[in-house]
This record gives sequence, structure tokens and C-alpha cells, in this order.
Amino acid sequence: MTVAKETAELLAKLGVDKAVLSGGDLQVRSPVTGEVIASLKQMSAAEAGKAVDAAHEAFKAWRLVPGPKRGELVRLLGEELRAHKTELGRLVSIEVGKIPSEGLGEVQEMIDICDFAVGLSRQLYGLTIATERPGHRMMETWHPLGVIGVISAFNFPVAVWSWNSALALVCGDSVVWKPSEKTPLTALACEAIFARAVKRFGADAPNDLLKVLIGDRAVGEVLVDHPKVPLVSATGSTRMGREVGPRLAKRFARAVLELGGNNAGIVTPTADLDMALRAIAFGAMGTAGQRCTTLRRLIVHESVYDQLVPRLKKAYESVSVGNPLEGKALVGPLIDKAAFDGMQKALKEAEAHGGKVTGGARVENGHPDAYYVHPALVEMPSQVSPVTEETFAPILYVMKYKDFDEALDLHNAVGAGLSSSIFTRDIMESERFLSAEGSDCGIANVNIGTSGAEIGGAFGGEKETGGGRESGSDAWKAYMRRATNTVNYSTALPLAQGVSFDID
Ligand code: NAD
Repeated sequence: MTVAKETAELLAKLGVDKAVLSGGDLQVRSPVTGEVIASLKQMSAAEAGKAVDAAHEAFKAWRLVPGPKRGELVRLLGEELRAHKTELGRLVSIEVGKIPSEGLGEVQEMIDICDFAVGLSRQLYGLTIATERPGHRMMETWHPLGVIGVISAFNFPVAVWSWNSALALVCGDSVVWKPSEKTPLTALACEAIFARAVKRFGADAPNDLLKVLIGDRAVGEVLVDHPKVPLVSATGSTRMGREVGPRLAKRFARAVLELGGNNAGIVTPTADLDMALRAIAFGAMGTAGQRCTTLRRLIVHESVYDQLVPRLKKAYESVSVGNPLEGKALVGPLIDKAAFDGMQKALKEAEAHGGKVTGGARVENGHPDAYYVHPALVEMPSQVSPVTEETFAPILYVMKYKDFDEALDLHNAVGAGLSSSIFTRDIMESERFLSAEGSDCGIANVNIGTSGAEIGGAFGGEKETGGGRESGSDAWKAYMRRATNTVNYSTALPLAQGVSFDID
């Protein structure tokens, strides 16, 4: 069976109308074979604007439904995702090229955030605050915010939507989602799955709680500029964030920016090298290096360099690269030719700066439009470009350090600030790494790699990663507006700070 045929069958099972899959000018390709698997019609700016208006009407009704009841809709969404995990996971593998366990893992992450959000729907707490005025009570309440715009990247085509939507829905918001133009099919599948949850929920869920906008960045710009969208959660490259951030700021809208990473790991003299080796291999080569949290820089103490790096090179030489839909490959394809070209350009530049490259060559598989590569390990004499930038491909730059301060300096000397890790059994080093003078990233790990976060913690990074936080912890607060309320239950009217203003 061709990938296109399997895609059509999966979409039919997931409830996507066959009619929307052909006749348009947005060609969707599977990176697995490079073949076109659908041609979708793109939305016009006017259609996108109307979708936001409709979602705004839905918000006005949804905000009045009690939080725990809103949680029931998300519980049903989680049930539908559980029931369709196999099909949706397979579709993720087809559309992005992820190996089966990672395609399914992405759907599991969606289920996990639904479970988290259901609990959250009964925990949208505010504080009660001591007031200086007698006979008064001060408190804060959290109210639904409005239409939440979600712009997502190709590499987590469905999980990012669910991180945002599960929270937004329990917070009383509606959602308008602009998925990556490279992965619109999984978005249509989520839309169909969500529609089933809404149907089971019944009449209290308004129409248009979720709208999906198919198209490229021009459609995304409608969301960014629309006055009825008080928050845009945008996931993608730092380049995209540089365009979206100022536009949102111009109209005082909130931004959750989840942008590029250039994540490093430090391997210290006391590291468990067997464990480090496994974590580095998954972090750097997993998902073909196409995770925002992919390990891209390895900073190794000179005393263990010659024990670790030759073993790592062996792992690079022996890792299986190939079709993720058949066989047992651990590394699937790059998303497209542009990703392959970007990788080759970075490797050439690294060589010009003295880098010694292992791997990196294209793996032919009989599909000229599919781009499989051997992951590359590059030993670098110093941290210069292209090490300092994110290349969205499986390249791991390895550098030596002598003392711990130097390792920390190297670690923090890049623009991005997403994820980081240290391998050590020395508590002083691990604590310094996690301290104020240590890693400057939003995620800092000890004895695990940089990738593979769980939904319970807040996810996001600092500096050029954009500063946004989504998913667990108190990330929900971005999706609500806070009101401070002071209630006077006395017969007097004392003013704060001792101000007197007595009129006769
Ligand atoms: P991209 O920036 O090319 O596109 C991301 C999304 O933004 C797409 O939907 C695109 O259409 C839209 N877009 C682009 N320019 C826009 C604009 N001016 N206005 C509105 N929308 C616009 O990114 P990509 O290639 O799909 O994904 C890879 C990048 O995403 C990497 O840099 C990766 O690190 C990053 N990423 C970050 C996170 C995170 O949580 N920090 C997660 C996944 C991916």
C-alpha cells in the first residue's frame, strides 16, 4: 500500500471528510517517501478572520460554563485520544517521519495533558490576601481570557496543540489553531477527534470552540493581528518569534513564545559514562535531531573525553537510519530538502572552523524526494558558528573543557536558553549547575538528557527561546485574566495608606 493510500484510510478512520483532502494548492508530503499525500485548500485572510469571530462567540458562552464542567469536555477529549491513539500516532509518523514509539509517545503526551487539565479544572485558585483596612476582604479571582491563538511547528504537530488547548478549554477559552503548513493532516485529525468529544459532551459546548486554520504564515499573521485574540501561543523558530513578538506587543496582546533551542550537556569527570552515553544518543539522534530540546552541544571534561567520545562515535556509526513505518530504524527522515541543505551547510562551515565530522551523509532509500541522513558528530576545537546557532537536524558538536567555570561559561554563551543537562556524581557541581550562577535555561536536568520532558512541569525557555511557559505547573495562569477584588463589609470607608478625603 502506498503511503498516500494509508494516509487516506487513517484519516477516514479518524473521521476527516475525504473531500477536504484534494483539490487545493497546499501540497502535503510525507517525509518518509517524499510523496504527496494530500492537496488542501488554504484559507484566505477573510476566512481566517471569520473563524476568529466565530470562536469569540463560542468563548462568550463557554466562559459561563463552570470550570469542573469544562473539565468534563477535556476528559472526553482524553478518552477519544486514548481510543484513537494507534491511528493518530501512525499519522504523526507518516506526516513528520517519527519512529512508531515517538509517534505514539506524542499522542500519549496529549492524553497526559488532558488528565492534568481535568484535575486543574477544579484548581483554578486565587489567593485571599491580608488587607490593611478593617471590615474588608481582598482576594483575587481568575476569569477566562478569550480566544487563544495557537501557532504550532511541524515537529510536534499535535502535542503542542493539546498542551495549549487542554489548558485553554478548562480555563474557559476557545481556541483557533494554525498548524504548520507542513503538517496540516494531523491537525484535521485532531479537529475531528475534538468534534466527537464535543458531541458526547452535549449542548453546553458551543459550536466553534475550536477552529483550525489551514495555510502558511499569512494565515498565522491574521491570528497575530486580530484584536479578538488576547493571547497567541506561538511555537517555532526564533526567526518566527522575532516577527510575531513585536506585532503582539504592538497591540498589547499576550505572547507565549516557544522558540528555538541550542541545548547543551556537560559531562564531568565523575559522570556515569554508560548512562551518559545512552542519554546523549537519544537526546542528539532521537527524532532525527528535530526536537526543540535536541542535544546539540556536548561539553566534555578532558579527563573523560577519550573514554566517552570514541564510544559515542561508534554509536553514531552503527545507529539504524531508515523508513520509520517499516523495520526497526531508530532515526527516520528529515522533514524536507531545506532541512537537509541546512544540515550540509552547517557541517561545511564547521569543517572550515576545524571541526572533525563523523557521519552526516545522505542515506539513499530509493525515494529521491525523501531525505534520510546519518546523524553527525562534530568534534570542535572551539565554540564558534555554526555551534552557536540551532541547525534543525541531527548534528552534535563536541567540545573539551578543563575547569567547571569554563564549562558553565561555554554552556551559557549562546542565544537560546531552552534545555540543558549535566552528568555528574559530584553534588557540588550538580547544585552549582542548578543554581543562580549555573544553567540559564528554562529546563536544567541532572543525569538525564535535554529532551523528553513530562507534562507536569512548566515547559519553555529563556533568552532567544522566547520566555514562554506552557503545559504543567502554573502555566495555566497565562490563559486567564486575574482580577483583584476588595470587598467592604463594614459601614465605614477607610482609605488605604491613611489617605483622608472627607466630604461633608
Ligand atoms: P517555523 O518557525 O518555520 O514555523 C512555525 C509556525 O509558525 C508555522 O505554523 C508557521 O506557518 C508559522 N509562522 C512562521 N512565520 C510566521 C509569522 N511571521 N507569523 C505567523 N506565523 C508564522 O518553525 P518549524 O520549522 O515549523 O519548526 C522548527 C522550529 O520550532 C525549531 O526552531 C524548533 O526549535 C522550534 N520549536 C520550539 C519548541 C518549543 O517549545 N520551544 C517546540 C517545537 C519546535
